Amino acid sequence: MDNNSKTSKNDLKGKFATCLNCIDGRVQLPVVKWIMENYKIDFVDMITEPGMDGFLSHPLSHLDDIFRKIQITMDVHDSQDIFIVAHDDCAGNPVDKETHQKQVTVSVNLIKEHFPSCKVIGIWVDLDANIEKIIER
Ligand SMILES: [Zn+2]
Repeated sequence: MDNNSKTSKNDLKGKFATCLNCIDGRVQLPVVKWIMENYKIDFVDMITEPGMDGFLSHPLSHLDDIFRKIQITMDVHDSQDIFIVAHDDCAGNPVDKETHQKQVTVSVNLIKEHFPSCKVIGIWVDLDANIEKIIER
């Protein structure tokens, strides 16, 4: 940390959420800002996978590693909100918007089953970085 930094240790305390996002750099900052503004969250723990919604909803995916990472953010940061992101022009999951939205719904239901105490929210990001909520459970 440099001398010009105004961030003190106390500034690094706050409310955490967990986000299951694509690796795509275009959707990181818009998603973090949207979550912070709409859910009064201070920090977003990011777990990424190319085409996360397609990965989570695919019946042959091995999800143990994702579950382990979610559990860490819950245990260490007391995260109680889990966001699942799908976005337009996704190279890791090149399907149409309707399919993305179905996959997000499947993904949200699956994560809610494993972490029933958490609120699970599925969101869609378009090419202009507009974000809409698809489902919340
Ligand atoms: Zn993507």
